Amino acid sequence: MEQTQRLIGSTKSIALVAHDNQKARLLAWSQRHRETLARHRLYATGTTGALLGQTLKCEINSLLSGPMGGDQQLGAKIAEGEIDMLIFFWDPLEQQPHDPDVKALLRIAAVWNVPVACNQATADFIFASTLINSDYQQDTPDYDAYLQQRTR
Ligand code: PGA
Repeated sequence: MEQTQRLIGSTKSIALVAHDNQKARLLAWSQRHRETLARHRLYATGTTGALLGQTLKCEINSLLSGPMGGDQQLGAKIAEGEIDMLIFFWDPLEQQPHDPDVKALLRIAAVWNVPVACNQATADFIFASTLINSDYQQDTPDYDAYLQQRTR
């Protein structure tokens, strides 16, 4: 697939999701990174978003709850270039009723070369990067070229 570039500005759209057994961990992490998070636009699945709103006292764009379609909503936003980063503390020790949606979300994030943290250590590393508060030229699939090729 041909690639093109897309500018991710210094203020990013960050999606946050935590499975039930990981919610306490994400909330604790978010408190530690509260100042940085406050500089960005935050999105979350329903329950995660409600808890983050209470904890951080800042605006969260909450979608549907994950099992009710929230993961799919986030996936669609990634495909449409509306989400720049995914912090997804998924539960590696328990099956979820919406496991296919979880897989789809991780897949579409990989397709669009969106940075993903699946655990706290990776999220710490990402938030320690200077790129979190600066512009970034992201390589991304060239969809227009892809479409032209397929319809030639
Ligand atoms: P929730 O969804 O934030 O509504 O709990 C998370 C998920 O299970 O994907």
